[in-house]
Amino acid sequence: MTKLQTIAQEIRTCTLCPLAKSRTNAVPGEGSASASLMLVGEAPGREEDAAGKPFVGRAGKILNQALLDVKIERNEVFITNVVKCRPPNNCVPTKNEIESCVTAHLHRQIQALNPEIICLLGGTAAKALLGEERLATVRGRLIEKDHLYFATYHPAGAGRSPAWYKAFQADIKKLKEFLDR
Ligand code: URA
Repeated sequence: MTKLQTIAQEIRTCTLCPLAKSRTNAVPGEGSASASLMLVGEAPGREEDAAGKPFVGRAGKILNQALLDVKIERNEVFITNVVKCRPPNNCVPTKNEIESCVTAHLHRQIQALNPEIICLLGGTAAKALLGEERLATVRGRLIEKDHLYFATYHPAGAGRSPAWYKAFQADIKKLKEFLDR
């Protein structure tokens, strides 16, 4: 088993926070173990909870299209979330849920994959990994910390307005240019 598979197995049986009680399936993430791009969303929604896979619902379709537009295939990236279990009613995960899941799982997934760029999808991911309250402060540029980060809108948000979708698409195009450098 690879390190990522070991972590995925731990996530599937994790009981560190209250979200374990209400989930159908934990969603460890999926993709290439040699991906140079890691994408991090917020938390699984209803369809992801049912499937045990990330971004398979409406937001996933928006994300897939934006990636395809710049010729990034989903199977060449690694996609996961800040928290691995669905919060009831799709609430934003709490500070404690985020801290416990990031420490126990996401940080180790990042270490195991060691991607060139980590793309943070939306405010929750930007806050969790960059400590930044306002997405606008960090959006659309490369940020060097322990890794290279690039933050953009969450695809569900991008789907809510044509202007946001356009900005999201432009960000993903920029991200692809950074990856190609
Ligand atoms: N929204 C997310 O943040 N993650 C998913 O996996 C699906 C929807």
